[in-house]
Amino acid sequence: MNAQIIDGKKIAAEIRSEAKLEATELIADGVQPCLVVVLVGEDPASKAYVGSKVKACEETGIKSIKITHPSDVSEEALMADIERLNADVSVHGILVQLPLPSHIDEDVVTEHIHPNKDVDGFHPVNVGKLSIGIDCLTPCTPTGIPEMIVRSGIDMSGKHAVVIGRSNIVGKPMMSLLVQKGEKANCTVTCCHSGTRDLTYHTKQADILIAAIGVPEFVKADMVKEGATVIDVGINRVEDPSTAKGYRLVGDVDFDEVKGVAGAITPVPGGVGPMTVAMLMKNTNKAARLLTR
Ligand code: NAD
Repeated sequence: MNAQIIDGKKIAAEIRSEAKLEATELIADGVQPCLVVVLVGEDPASKAYVGSKVKACEETGIKSIKITHPSDVSEEALMADIERLNADVSVHGILVQLPLPSHIDEDVVTEHIHPNKDVDGFHPVNVGKLSIGIDCLTPCTPTGIPEMIVRSGIDMSGKHAVVIGRSNIVGKPMMSLLVQKGEKANCTVTCCHSGTRDLTYHTKQADILIAAIGVPEFVKADMVKEGATVIDVGINRVEDPSTAKGYRLVGDVDFDEVKGVAGAITPVPGGVGPMTVAMLMKNTNKAARLLTR
């Protein structure tokens, strides 16, 4: 079987043009959507993520402000920033790039952001609203996944979705999204994690298999049901001396093996990754509407 390759870059570009239109409409209504990104320290991956978010804002017509702090910034100083941004009516989205240095409590920081400016969708108020099906800001990476599936012409309703991973950023919100009613959900959901017994038994039942594990090429062909839709959230660096950088990016799914069994599959890179930033643009516009209606 030759799997359909789900083109995350193409779908993300579509979503970004929709976000651009939304931003234009907001501006016509007198609202300049604005995202503030807070970066702490010098972590190269975090810097790169922040850079791509700022660039996407520029291309979408969303104003972006980058605030940087040294890695030894105090929790109090970070809180003072957030309080100021919460009170600033010209700011609609606040994103503190994670991970933070260990002396700062990420949960405390997340809870300090006003829920209607929480474009990452990590605030407990938004987590709760998502779980009971109230419209709210939801985490960008999992929110992009049903978009990719449905826009690729794959029906989700009534399908058995198996999520591997239970993180607060991907796995758990993914479960909450998939179980809701609606065209981009309505699945029967199983969540597997490091405590799951006989993982392959569960993954083999999946019509939609979503891997968010953080282990390179963990999902092999013999774990996948023939014809399943396989979504690879993983982004892992593996050493590769043949490349200029000395490494390459791979997902949590063994793409070359699994594409022979799956009905549809996302590549890494070029799958889920580009969707995350596109959904952030959508969330920033949504926050701007929420805060100014
Ligand atoms: P995490 O480390 O917080 O969670 C990993 C999960 O995998 C855990 O819940 C754990 O229970 C589960 N797990 C680990 N080993 C397992 C095993 N042997 N069997 C079953 N389950 C197992 O990671 P995360 O933040 O959820 O990220 C997961 C992956 O997704 C990483 O590669 C990360 O880089 C990537 N990611 C990508 C994006 C994106 O934009 N594409 C966004 C966030 C995370």
